[in-house]
Amino acid sequence: MKSYLVQPDKKLDLSKHDPDGRSQFDGSKDDAQQELETLNSRLSELQELLYAESKHRILIVLQAMDTGGKDGTIRRVFSGVNPQGVRVASFKVPTPEELAHDYLWRIHKQAPGNGEIVIFNRSHYEDVLVVRVHNLVPPEVWAKRYQHINDFERLLTDTGTTILKFFLNIDLDEQKKRLQSRLDNPDKHWKFNIGDLAERKRWPDYMQAYQDALEKTSTDYAPWYVIPANRKWYRDLVISRIIVESLEGLNMKYPPSENLDGVVID
Ligand code: AMP
Ligand code: MG
Repeated sequence: MKSYLVQPDKKLDLSKHDPDGRSQFDGSKDDAQQELETLNSRLSELQELLYAESKHRILIVLQAMDTGGKDGTIRRVFSGVNPQGVRVASFKVPTPEELAHDYLWRIHKQAPGNGEIVIFNRSHYEDVLVVRVHNLVPPEVWAKRYQHINDFERLLTDTGTTILKFFLNIDLDEQKKRLQSRLDNPDKHWKFNIGDLAERKRWPDYMQAYQDALEKTSTDYAPWYVIPANRKWYRDLVISRIIVESLEGLNMKYPPSENLDGVVID
């Protein structure tokens, strides 16, 4: 999965990342489905262990263009995990109260506690993406944020948090198909925002903003992955593999129990 890692301190050319790529799996979609089910069960076991051990904290950041598949990823990658230890935090246009604070204030409040997995559906990265593309603050303000973000993520990882960041990489054609299917399907109208069409027109600006953000904030302690996301099943498979591998690497153990020898229940 290293091929999707954004190498810290290297230049990133997002246009070289193929949204249709599937180089890490040569089986069929059905085969992928089977592997995903195995990974789902493993993730469920690992989460149980994470919760029981209550030592590590896991933060998963999902960023993508509209229709990029953030919701679907959450649904499929985390199907089967115990809701008790997993929480999704979605970040929308900031409220007046949020805007009256620094931009990391609302983010820090949602960071995971011991034994918890928190999935960020959008994140502090919006503050160097939509905010930059729409000039919501001047360049000298957003330009400082990459360093703030690296420092903030360093704080989280220094205090027991594992951070994994995924950019779901779709292309303009795929977005068109997905928007069209939302338009054609009355049950999906609630997901269709007229505003998404205006954002779509700014695609090149967004890609530039993403490229800079990923390049400047992929670190050895909080890496970014660019996930080929035109195929949903491939996206889910790759992300599941990365999460499972990362949790396996924590070498978690169930906490020692009291001595239960001779305990009798009447
Ligand atoms: P959705 O995720 O489709 O519900 O949309 C949420 C919207 O909130 C998106 O258009 C985001 O770009 C926007 N948003 C999230 N965070 C910020 C932020 N910090 N500043 C401005 N807009 C934001
Ligand atoms: Mg939306």
